[in-house]
Amino acid sequence: MQDSGLWQAVLGEIELSISRGNFVTWFKNTQLVRQNDDVVTVGVPNIFVKNQLEKKFNDLVLEVLAKNGLKPGRVEYKIHTGMASSRKSDSEDAGPTSTIELVKTTARTQATIANITHSYRQGLNDRYNFENFVVGAGNELAYAACQAIATNPGTKYNPLFLYGGVGIGKTHLIQAVGNEILAKKPDARIIYASTEQFVQEFVDALRFKKNTSSFAGFYRGADVLIVDDVQFLAGKERVQEEFFHTFNALYQANHQIIMSSDKPPKDIPTLEERLRSRFAWGMTIDMQTPDFETRCAILHTKASDQNFALPQDVVEFLATRVQNNIRELEGALTQLIAFCEMRSVEPDIRIATTMFEGVKGRPKHVTARSIIERTAKHFHVSIDDILGPKRDKDIVVPRQIAMYMLRSELHLSFPKIAHELGRKDHTTAIHSIEKIQRELSYESSIRQSINELKEKLYA
Ligand code: ADP
Ligand code: MG
Repeated sequence: MQDSGLWQAVLGEIELSISRGNFVTWFKNTQLVRQNDDVVTVGVPNIFVKNQLEKKFNDLVLEVLAKNGLKPGRVEYKIHTGMASSRKSDSEDAGPTSTIELVKTTARTQATIANITHSYRQGLNDRYNFENFVVGAGNELAYAACQAIATNPGTKYNPLFLYGGVGIGKTHLIQAVGNEILAKKPDARIIYASTEQFVQEFVDALRFKKNTSSFAGFYRGADVLIVDDVQFLAGKERVQEEFFHTFNALYQANHQIIMSSDKPPKDIPTLEERLRSRFAWGMTIDMQTPDFETRCAILHTKASDQNFALPQDVVEFLATRVQNNIRELEGALTQLIAFCEMRSVEPDIRIATTMFEGVKGRPKHVTARSIIERTAKHFHVSIDDILGPKRDKDIVVPRQIAMYMLRSELHLSFPKIAHELGRKDHTTAIHSIEKIQRELSYESSIRQSINELKEKLYA
């Protein structure tokens, strides 16, 4: 049997015998590097996968290899840099060309001609998909838009502009769109690039004094262009110019453009006005840190993906300690798992507390009540006014700001926010919070009020 065919067969069998999450996390990006009677060498993308395969899955790999007629003395896991990140779907037979690879290869050939060193290592990573994304308050709108785009690219929400803080799932979602489209339409030309990559390639194209047409052609040839972290376009005039033309070409052809950023277009400094306005032509979505319940669900999912059972109190403890960044939340979970596995102990609240004692959680005194009180005081209105029905402007605005603060500081869900404000209908909460979010970017008085409020709240 051909090597890659053999490994496909091994993977197929492994996929059936472990959880989907485990398979995707640990096996999906592996490949057979070498084989002889003594040693089978498996290429893995990073040290984490290497450790895990050696520790947890080595017996399984040996067993499945044996079933496929290979009985090596041992299996060796080697970190293989530059490994393609996407594996073909199981229905296809072995061969060198998945679509994304094809796009990459074509571009690489062009790049060689133009003497540019393209690096496509950061292409789509199939670890990011919709199934392993936990939906909840904070990311549900972004999730819905991304799903709609994956179903019908280039139609409704074009361009899509997702923005929000670090580690809250932007990259995960926009890559999931690419992976989903590719799964349904394997010949779609999907390009995922970080803005740094886009910038670097452009700069290289210029530096080698070749014309930039192959670079431009590659990006303008995309059916779907996904550009991550476009805030890094700030201050780069010539790259912005190039991006402008790429954008126009794709947009006019009704090809989907997806961008992410840590801030909305209007807050990206020194972004050309024509790009700024174009970025907002389609749909702009503010992603928020997932709320407490969602963070708990994420922890449960990620733990069970690794066959690790986390007691509820430990989950809640971690979700309270790590609030703003899901990457850090995952990091905490990984540390906890490693700690417990090394010592062969079950995770409990005592271990979690000892490990993450130093991690600062939200101060206990910041509660829904204290936020409402502080806001009322700040604006010289009474709590009753805030909770009451009055529609005077000098009461409505503090009420809206209180709602916004409940969202931004406590990450409460919209229905909970409505409840705290004594209201039945949570659509008012949604509108109020959106309004304040919008105003924050152009009304310095609102920004200042909120900063002062936060200072007092956390003093
Ligand atoms: P960002 O691009 O916003 O900085 P990422 O997309 O890189 O954040 O997310 C950071 C990590 O958290 C990733 O490993 C991602 O898979 C994970 N993550 C974020 N949000 C979720 C979610 N809702 N469900 C599951 N995993 C998530
Ligand atoms: Mg990101």
